[in-house]
Amino acid sequence: MKTYRVNEIFYSRQGEGVRVGTPNLFLRFTGCNLTCMQETHGFDCDTEFASGRDFTLDQLIAALAECLDDASASQRANASASQMVRNVDPTNAENAPRRVRNAVHLPSTSQSNADQDGSINGRRENSSPARASIDNTDPANWIILTGGEPALQVDDDLINALHAAGYKLAIETNGSIALPNGIDWITVSPKVAEHAIRQRTADEVKYVRGYGQAIPKTVVDAKHKLISPAFDGNVLQEKTLAWCKQLVSDNPEWELSMQMHKVWGVR
Ligand code: SF4
Repeated sequence: MKTYRVNEIFYSRQGEGVRVGTPNLFLRFTGCNLTCMQETHGFDCDTEFASGRDFTLDQLIAALAECLDDASASQRANASASQMVRNVDPTNAENAPRRVRNAVHLPSTSQSNADQDGSINGRRENSSPARASIDNTDPANWIILTGGEPALQVDDDLINALHAAGYKLAIETNGSIALPNGIDWITVSPKVAEHAIRQRTADEVKYVRGYGQAIPKTVVDAKHKLISPAFDGNVLQEKTLAWCKQLVSDNPEWELSMQMHKVWGVR
């Protein structure tokens, strides 16, 4: 029987891109076809994608439903204490360029993901007031397919089964592998040279940019073109942010997309 190798399943807010702030199940697949490093890509991959276990489609749908149930129960338990953190430093807003989606409060010290997310086996538990909350008025019927590189495993059977189970599907891909049809929201975040990009249509295309890196000449046809300042761990260096703000100011067809989950301290 066909199986899919999955690194983790968890529930959280989308931290970046046009869908920032929305609740989603995250289905993170094992494996990637690239090795992103500072020397070659301008940033180091900060994602553990080597581990995982195999799921049949039925097992996967059951695990997703269980995760959603756990998240709903946790949300109810914490509803009175938790709050969504948005626009954490409004004092920066008047200095931000017009197309900045979220003002950002620069963390003053490096923070540990392990200390912050409180997750066990990919499930977030016992949200504290400092973390993004789960809003139980949201149906949370979106799944974000991510990795590693999800396009290594996502296929028609998976898409059809998850749609039949009532979910909408978003994907975050490095663009080096063409996607099957039917995915509801496509984010291409290229990590290869433009000529090597195989997924050339998307809802949004997002490039991570470090200090000194130029605006991309993308081959991806997308409604939203986003620049995402590279974080150093969980810290965004001021000069990197300033550089990226200048890039989008000089190139108004591009927008700034912050990795807000790192600011919020959620997964
Ligand atoms: S494509 Fe993404 S997951 Fe793969 S190595 Fe690069 S940053 Fe990491």
